[in-house]
Amino acid sequence: KKRIVSGVQPTGSIHLGNYLGAIRNWILLQNTYDTFFFIVDLHAITLPYDAQQLSKATRDTAALYLACGVDTSKASVFVQSHVRAHAELMWLLSSVTPVGWLNRMIQFKEKSRKAGDENVGVGLLTYPVLMASDILLYQSDFVPVGEDQKQHLELTRELAERVNHLFGGRKWKKLGGRGGSVFKVPEPLIPPVGARVMSLTDGLSKMSKSAPSDQSRINLLDPKDVIANKIKRCKTDSFPGMEFDNPERPECNNLLSIYQLISGKTKEEVAEECRDMNWGTFKSLLADALIDHLQPIQVRYEEIISDSAYLDGILAEGAMKAAGIADATLNNVYQAMGFLQR
Ligand code: ATP
Ligand code: MG
Repeated sequence: KKRIVSGVQPTGSIHLGNYLGAIRNWILLQNTYDTFFFIVDLHAITLPYDAQQLSKATRDTAALYLACGVDTSKASVFVQSHVRAHAELMWLLSSVTPVGWLNRMIQFKEKSRKAGDENVGVGLLTYPVLMASDILLYQSDFVPVGEDQKQHLELTRELAERVNHLFGGRKWKKLGGRGGSVFKVPEPLIPPVGARVMSLTDGLSKMSKSAPSDQSRINLLDPKDVIANKIKRCKTDSFPGMEFDNPERPECNNLLSIYQLISGKTKEEVAEECRDMNWGTFKSLLADALIDHLQPIQVRYEEIISDSAYLDGILAEGAMKAAGIADATLNNVYQAMGFLQR
């Protein structure tokens, strides 16, 4: 079976972008692939955060994975920090990652600009190296992510190739290893629609957990009236009717795409259905569709989060399975890099 890994940071409430760009696709993939879905708590500390909230956010995120349909009879769900190999491999990879590669990362530039110098730790810069570790430890074939992670995936691929070149093949064999490549070179899986869900208050920036305004996103756990209110108040324009793909109407395109995904209709059907609607009519249609779609997820979430023993059991089991694979890869890397075996 081909293997898939992916994760979300416990940096806030999971929103529609995380769901449509990543999590929803996991649900289909888990039927065909060997899947590992983790909560990337080590990544979540790369910007100032509240230590009092981290463990709660981690459990909430795990519960939401399950509520969205991640099925633990098929997929492994675990917490990144529970598998020590992630942080350990990161050190090894850091040492062979050119700083120039990291300086080029758009996410680093954007997040560091917003956070201000005082708040930018080295971890924000090396974030993609930790992400590469997350992926390469499992010899993953595919990584389902949103469009914003494409550049990090490209770096992961380059890093895998670099390690294979520097330490793999005959050199590794001489050290007593199996030879060949140390890491499999993974590929991103970016959905055709939903890969970049935009903010409700600005159709040109992506919906994000870390955006200061909660009005900019629909969280999966938002109550009905909050969803209705956010949609009612979200940014509109003064063009007549509703249409896809008009570059002057990014908000309109974004909301239609969200409706398309949530309703399960085709783009053509949505274009036809909404063409002559005004913003008011369309917004109430969208709000109702969102509320209907999210309600069962919210009900399941409440059930799961109230049974902490069950949730902890799932996470312990997931970490054990993950650690088995991750440790094997890590040992290979130590060997290929020439370390004295323990
Ligand atoms: P933060 O602002 O803390 O970075 P985030 O909203 O970007 O949070 P992440 O935890 O960084 O969420 O990303 C988790 C997954 O969700 C990744 O696969 C990412 O590509 C995807 N994702 C994030 N935002 C969007 C979006 N607006 N549209 C589609 N996919 C998204
Ligand atoms: Mg992000």
